[in-house]
Amino acid sequence: MNLPQPSRRHVLLAGAGGLAAVALPSTAHAFGAVEPDIDSTLQWQARSPRSPVNLVGKRPTMIVVHHTVSDNTSDVSRAQAHRHAHWVQDLHMDRNGWTDTGYHFLVSRGGWITEGRHRSLSTLRSGSDFVLGAHTSGQNGAGIGIANEGAYHDGAQPPRAQWEVLVTLCAYVCERYAIAPSRIYGHKDFGDTLCPGVLHDRLPQLRSEVAASMG
Ligand SMILES: [Zn+2]
Repeated sequence: MNLPQPSRRHVLLAGAGGLAAVALPSTAHAFGAVEPDIDSTLQWQARSPRSPVNLVGKRPTMIVVHHTVSDNTSDVSRAQAHRHAHWVQDLHMDRNGWTDTGYHFLVSRGGWITEGRHRSLSTLRSGSDFVLGAHTSGQNGAGIGIANEGAYHDGAQPPRAQWEVLVTLCAYVCERYAIAPSRIYGHKDFGDTLCPGVLHDRLPQLRSEVAASMG
């Protein structure tokens, strides 16, 4: 697939690292969070859901961060992000018996975002409704689920690109849905799980970086 030139992803990554601040358009700050590049289910050629996905009928009121306990791959390519999206969808449909991927969005170790459950991206853009996911027992009617490729319960840290894109995606979700960055949680806040590992320890940092990036 051809990347847009210049890719917003790379502008955002560079911007987050403070390397390309002068290259950003002067209007960038006026609009707050910018939509990052998100590969839709069509772009990564997801399987169709077993049954139509359901909308909740209102905005989500929080974000719940997960990890997928996949291999901590060093492959940072967009193709790997698509492979990971397929791996998660197959697991959720074939092993768990769910209608589709349980999460709304996934962030790869290389910093590529893929749409999880169908319609998550179009409803995010609308800002008024979201898809009923399957990621946090008891909270699926309230939370957007963002899952990070990799396993972070054993001391591993997320690569910098993944972290920065997670911040960018959370900022965009918070802005579209008017969610306060203080309402970014981790899966283990709501259940007996290690998920999302060290990312849970870093939630205070995530909340503060998301708030900063929203201005
Ligand atoms: Zn989880």
